[in-house]
Amino acid sequence: MHSDTNTTSADNRYDAVALLSGGLDSILAVKVIQDQGLRVKCLHFVSPFFGKPHKRRHWEAIYGIDIENVDISEDYVRLLTERPVYGFGKVLNPCVDCKIIMMRKASEMMHRYGARFIISGEVLGQRPMSQRQDTLNVIRRDADVREVLLRPLCAKHLDPTEVELSGLVDRERLLGIKGRGRSEQLALAKHYGFAEVPTPGGGCKLAEKENARRYWPVLKFSPKPSVRDFKLSNIGRQYWAEDKWMIVGRNQMDNTALLKVCGDDDLIFRLRGFPGPIAVGRQFEGKAWAQEEIADAAAFTASFSPKSVQSGQDVTVRVSCAADLRKQGDSGSEQGPVANEMLFTVTPCRQTPIGWCESEWPVVREEIRADMRDKRA
Ligand code: SF4
Repeated sequence: MHSDTNTTSADNRYDAVALLSGGLDSILAVKVIQDQGLRVKCLHFVSPFFGKPHKRRHWEAIYGIDIENVDISEDYVRLLTERPVYGFGKVLNPCVDCKIIMMRKASEMMHRYGARFIISGEVLGQRPMSQRQDTLNVIRRDADVREVLLRPLCAKHLDPTEVELSGLVDRERLLGIKGRGRSEQLALAKHYGFAEVPTPGGGCKLAEKENARRYWPVLKFSPKPSVRDFKLSNIGRQYWAEDKWMIVGRNQMDNTALLKVCGDDDLIFRLRGFPGPIAVGRQFEGKAWAQEEIADAAAFTASFSPKSVQSGQDVTVRVSCAADLRKQGDSGSEQGPVANEMLFTVTPCRQTPIGWCESEWPVVREEIRADMRDKRA
């Protein structure tokens, strides 16, 4: 885990730290506490699955809050790899375990900031899985934040916390919002004069089927799922053939991102003489692909270049190790020979013998369910 600032000096103390997803509720919870003249440091958690670290300055300016981005990618990948204790929600979202990880981290940072309590924007009964009364209690207990966690938006429905009893926080000025409605939150956003009203949640890719089907094969086939694996699974089109993984760029932005994120051992496929995508063949832990597999992937890559397909001819695909490409400072363009580069002359083909496939959500959903049953058994 790392954060983007080091702010622990005695003159930079806060009364509270807050979990800030960037969703409306998390921002309102901070405003309610700031209204009492208390200083709040907002923690915006970032991983390949959620977080908008680039928005930090913007949010600070428009909402008048103070934010630190906190990268929890490593912890999060460990959670998914080992599987969540409290299971997944409707998709691949381990909400209860996720909240516990975030609360634990917030508790650690609370001490660093000399703060006395943690704020979160949860509202009782708003989300089916993570915001039921019994689940809220589990989160408090397992994260060991029972004494310090304050939920300003629904505090009136909960027992008073130590900071309320001590008088640091005025319980009378906390709220009693409950349920799925949004009207009270929208009225509050108006009251605070927000120039932008954010969407209810912070946006989490694990709760979206389209993204879950990208992540599941990583959990299934990567020998040791890594942050890099999940960053790669966020890019381009994803194809798998058992444990062989190909990622094909859809546009220039994908191509650039692929070259930046892939590992040194990964194979980079580029067409010679035709415009086309960059593709990455992920060589897990340096496990080299056989020549026939590379040739197959080269023909598959070429099939994404309409001009090469229309030419009706065999085409040449350049294949290099990412490390060699990086040594040369190659940006992925056509120029310059690359050390140890392999050239494959292939017929563009989408249905190759290896049988590259995209994961389908209904299949993935069944596999996730079966996996959870196995873990429980
Ligand atoms: S939706 Fe995503 S970020 Fe939010 S609690 Fe669930 S897993 Fe965590």
